[in-house]
Amino acid sequence: MRIVRTVAEVRAAVAEARRDGRTVGLVPTMGAFHEGHLSLIRRARETTGLVVVSLFVNPTQFAPGEDLSTYPRDEARDAALAERSGADVLFAPEPAEVYPDGFATTVHVSGVTEVLCGAARGAHHFDGVATVVAKLFGMVAPDVAFFGQKDAQQVLVVRRLVRDLDMPVRIEACPIVREADGLAMSSRNVYLTDDDRRRATALNRALAAAERVVESGETGADAVLAAARAELAAAGVDPEYLELRDPDDLHEVDRIAPAALLAVAARVGAARLIDNRILKERR
Ligand code: AMP
Repeated sequence: MRIVRTVAEVRAAVAEARRDGRTVGLVPTMGAFHEGHLSLIRRARETTGLVVVSLFVNPTQFAPGEDLSTYPRDEARDAALAERSGADVLFAPEPAEVYPDGFATTVHVSGVTEVLCGAARGAHHFDGVATVVAKLFGMVAPDVAFFGQKDAQQVLVVRRLVRDLDMPVRIEACPIVREADGLAMSSRNVYLTDDDRRRATALNRALAAAERVVESGETGADAVLAAARAELAAAGVDPEYLELRDPDDLHEVDRIAPAALLAVAARVGAARLIDNRILKERR
């Protein structure tokens, strides 16, 4: 595996692979790898010829006061894990390579960015995501880009971006990878104390409780949300949001028919955690 820092170097690696007739997969990340990231890299390895993993803690998607300065960073560890999982190229640019002096463009996706994390964190968040993803697609020109369903709204934002700007890249969403006790893996889980860590499992339990209600034949949003809310309350977790939305365009739904995205965000100790599940109407 090669570690490269510049757009010119990553383009040269991609050009060489293309000359050999290989397809190009891109896994965009902010590092601090866990099994969630590695599952995306392995999927890229299985399905594409050149696997590029980008590692860039993108400053523009953090608001002032969020955790940009404390975000976990360990490039040497990430490089070893990426290589072992099948990456060919680790593209780890400096901020000035991505945002050189005079940088003046923002990509704004409307609609799907305006609810859930977009409402909770502010419009800058998905502007930062859409802009850096558009840039990564321009830099690497992948055939396929791999994203985690853990960030379900991000997947929808990227799909919208790609459709609206006619970007020739296929977006593949990969399943959420969880710890043994159900907590969705996240780079931010390192912020949790032991006590927080136990309380944090309430997010997945809330989603599971909602799913059981749906499996019993219930489709009304109120009953489904109440079951989830009760699990959070029992653990003393106050959600930033807990909402049932259409899985494709994120409009709010009052029934699960035929499917809905149940999405939750909550602060647990020093960590802001998110999780979600697609609930399907019983047939
Ligand atoms: P991040 O480094 O947090 O920006 O995440 C990079 C990619 O990994 C994103 O596409 C995330 O959705 C994905 N990801 C993060 N956590 C998980 C997880 N627990 N399961 C699956 N994918 C994940």
